[in-house]
Amino acid sequence: MKHFIEELEQAAIGRLLFDEPLSNHTTWKIGGPADILLIPEGKEQLVSAIRLLHKHGIPWTSLGRGSNMLVSDKGVRGVVIKPKDGLDYARFDGDVVYAGAAYSFIKLSVMAGKEGLTGLEFAGGIPGTVGGAVYMNAGAHGSDVSRIFRSAEIVLETGELVRYEGKDMNFSYRHSILQEKKGFVLEAAFELSPGDRKLITESMAAHKERRLRTQPLQLPCAGSVFRNPPNDHSARLIEAAGLKGFRVGGAEVSELHSNFIINTGQATAEDVLTLMSHIQGVIREQFGISLVPEVLVVGER
Ligand code: FAD
Repeated sequence: MKHFIEELEQAAIGRLLFDEPLSNHTTWKIGGPADILLIPEGKEQLVSAIRLLHKHGIPWTSLGRGSNMLVSDKGVRGVVIKPKDGLDYARFDGDVVYAGAAYSFIKLSVMAGKEGLTGLEFAGGIPGTVGGAVYMNAGAHGSDVSRIFRSAEIVLETGELVRYEGKDMNFSYRHSILQEKKGFVLEAAFELSPGDRKLITESMAAHKERRLRTQPLQLPCAGSVFRNPPNDHSARLIEAAGLKGFRVGGAEVSELHSNFIINTGQATAEDVLTLMSHIQGVIREQFGISLVPEVLVVGER
């Protein structure tokens, strides 16, 4: 690690923050420190960093907005890479939009609407980055990333640069190839279609109104905690089990949306994990259904 840090500092690849609390970088506001949080300046720096990490055999984790992550209380060993300014762009070329990994998925959907392009309306309430959305095949309102995905520029963990198209991504419900084969999305291209600006705006406003009414958006959370089981909804099951408002430490099942767990102030990752396994136990016992987490648990346990 020492040689790696020296090389990293000499390479001037970006900002290095040591023992950085990841609670500052997740929407749950939970998470212990990363040994190193690396904020590369741009694409070239990020690729160089991954090649250096590969050379030294140092583990790394990619971080977007941290809106689908539960970081353990002990934090993450090795390097956490969070792209920022140099990968925070969107460029429209006809019906295609090219966006850097760090670009806000919400902002992208608003921009597309302003350009009179339809296809990204579903993303108007998904508070992550383009990189995180591709990794998760994020979706809502009957659509998801796979429906508009054209290609992505990815640096694999070996440092090899590749361009993956839809057929390479192995997309399914909240799943992409990146969950099987490690890589960092640098840029994604989405294929949209010309649409009616007024209709796009109306549809996005309706989605927003529904979210504001049904989700605890003012409180630290990470969206849906569990995937929906086939032909059912985790929120419905959790509510039917009488678990609304159930609490472990500072973690609480939201009164507004039963598949959301909110951090009421001082929740630890252990509180959330204990609450999650309690919910899973009750749902298994009452309905015979095993709930699978949608949020990703990362870090040392
Ligand atoms: P992170 O949480 O930072 O990371 C998620 C995963 O992606 C991690 O494994 C990370 O390593 C990986 N990753 C991040 N960036 C990259 C990259 N550049 N290259 C490779 N891998 C990367 N999700 C939905 O699908 N639909 C919804 O409707 C929805 N609603 C939400 C509402 C709220 C209020 C909140 C808080 C969350 C919601 N989410 C929803 C969850 C979350 O916003 C999405 O999963 C989002 O796509 C995650 O993006 P992120 O940048 O925050 O990723």
